[in-house]
Amino acid sequence: MKNGTIYVIGLGPGGREQMTLRAVRALERCDCVAGYGLYLDLIAGMIAGKERIETGMTREVERCRAARDAALAGKTVALVSSGDAGVYGMAGLLLEVCEGDGITVEIIPGVTAACSGGALLGSPLTCDFACISLSDLLTPWEVIARRLRGAAAGDFALVLYNPASKKRVDTLARACEILLESLPAETVCGMVRSVGRGGESRELTTLGQLAEQPCDMLTTVFIGNSRTRIVNGWMVTPRGYRGI
Ligand code: SAH
Repeated sequence: MKNGTIYVIGLGPGGREQMTLRAVRALERCDCVAGYGLYLDLIAGMIAGKERIETGMTREVERCRAARDAALAGKTVALVSSGDAGVYGMAGLLLEVCEGDGITVEIIPGVTAACSGGALLGSPLTCDFACISLSDLLTPWEVIARRLRGAAAGDFALVLYNPASKKRVDTLARACEILLESLPAETVCGMVRSVGRGGESRELTTLGQLAEQPCDMLTTVFIGNSRTRIVNGWMVTPRGYRGI
């Protein structure tokens, strides 16, 4: 039997209108959908009647192997991640797991939280920016701290993914402490939560106040660069055009 195909799909932040047409089409074509249960529930209406490969949050390797096995059995499989599958998602792992198996893999980009959250806040990422995940599950905290210091030294605007989890409640405060070593407390910051899903919210604040703001695993944090300011309630990092 001919090996099947795996579509690795970025679903965007949530909700069909924030998915790309290419992602919608690939979901329509597949026989079987693999992903974290919460994401499968988000797209339940679009995958009714299709086989589900559902695993828990931390079962990524298992999920990729199950997707590979279904493809080896000739099925067309969709492996879904929120946002973009290549940004703290499963695209890289899937490619490693399938190495040498002769499976056709197609990776379909999605709107990552930096973009969907940035749009909700205004235009915080107009110029050079860095994304840093505060999760120390797969990256040691010393490495995260070094990246935070490096990004602050480079005057990058910053996007912090995974600022908290059920177990990691003080991570954002620890990151703020590091950033405040070199950045002013007045640095403009923004937070978004649950973008594109029920309970979507946005908040503007400063680096000095950031650690006190409530945040959870559905929050993404934005830290402006030295020129970022509030324009009519929007967080704006100016591109530098003259004459305005
Ligand atoms: N692949 C995803 C990121 C997964 S890491 C992407 O490209 O967006 C998980 C982190 O992403 C969360 O802790 C949060 O910081 C961010 N995130 C994902 N979806 C989000 C949403 N709908 N609203 C706000 N932040 C989100």
